[in-house]
Amino acid sequence: MKTFVIATHNRHKTREIAKLLRGVPAAFTDLTRFPKVASVCEDGRTLLENAVKKARAYSRRTGLPALADDTGLEVDALSGAPGLRSARYAGPGCAYSDNNRKLLRELGRRGAAGAARGATFRCVVALADPATGRVETCEGALRGKILESSRGRNGFGYDPLFYIPRLKKTLAELSLKEKNRVSHRAKAVLKIKKLLEARCAGS
Ligand code: IMP
Repeated sequence: MKTFVIATHNRHKTREIAKLLRGVPAAFTDLTRFPKVASVCEDGRTLLENAVKKARAYSRRTGLPALADDTGLEVDALSGAPGLRSARYAGPGCAYSDNNRKLLRELGRRGAAGAARGATFRCVVALADPATGRVETCEGALRGKILESSRGRNGFGYDPLFYIPRLKKTLAELSLKEKNRVSHRAKAVLKIKKLLEARCAGS
């Protein structure tokens, strides 16, 4: 059976992605199985560049086909920030809670209310094959709005602030199964799942 590496150290991402890929006749592992593999510097100018860079580098470093995701939160009132800087919005080494506090502070400073609190989660997933060097990419997006305070205890990152009006819940109030029905990552991963299935069928 073919093995793929989900190129992340983030156990939340691994859990979401592994669940979405259920049914693919392949084995999946993540970077926790490769403690000696050096981290990739995410210095691309776009989510796409970062996802491709991570997938390429980790497929070379592990010798396995690699699936990497890069995600950003784009807030309307902040002209698309934090965007590419979503992980380190509050500074190097910051915690999710620091980023969420900074996001609320920035929106508060601008007096952002109502529609101005609209936001998009954007995710790019890249699949790299170390044998051919070929990389394929898929994207997914989710529209919502940023609440004025956190709600919910599930998920990670900005999930407690990201409200989906249609569901009347934040991403952190959804179970993993529910998040995987609507999320930016699910949309991108389900597209790449088709390529994975085709690849497994052909090998
Ligand atoms: P990354 O560079 O793709 O790991 O993501 C950048 C940052 O975006 C992460 O550190 C999280 O704070 C946030 N993030 C990524 N995906 C999600 C998600 O599904 N929900 C909430 N926050 C996320």
